[in-house]
Amino acid sequence: MVKAATIAKKSGPKKKPATAVKKSAAAKKESVPLRYKCRLCGYVYSPLRGEPHNGIPVGTAFEDLPETYVCPVCGFQGKGRIGKGGFDEWVPTRYICSMCNYIYDEKRGEPHRGIKPGTKFTDLPDDYVCPVCALDPKIRVQFGKVLKQGFQPLYE
Ligand SMILES: [Zn+2]
Ligand SMILES: [Zn+2]
Repeated sequence: MVKAATIAKKSGPKKKPATAVKKSAAAKKESVPLRYKCRLCGYVYSPLRGEPHNGIPVGTAFEDLPETYVCPVCGFQGKGRIGKGGFDEWVPTRYICSMCNYIYDEKRGEPHRGIKPGTKFTDLPDDYVCPVCALDPKIRVQFGKVLKQGFQPLYE
């Protein structure tokens, strides 16, 4: 007569095994949204801009575009219906100063300031300032230094 002892085991609060959630490191790469460029006309889709006039809200990732998406430029010019398949991932290599239109070109760098050709814009030091604005006393006094945040990728 030892039956009672075996029943007790399955009762009590269920404890989930403590598996460590270690997936956050991989998911942490979303600071730079991917841009895509139309192979035919060079139009660049940027999630930062979206296409509000086409009903695509700002912040829509390229992958989340509807399957019926058509390049707005090619579509408008009647070049054909270039869909998502006609786009390639695109990374800007030139950035323009929103204050003076100076263009930082990664291929060129700024060797005279010690920035080697091929230096990515994102790799520039945080205290990088627009060299043209920095020389213009009017801009310097009115707006202060124009830092990296004052630059926009050049879509061409
Ligand atoms: Zn196009
Ligand atoms: Zn500038």
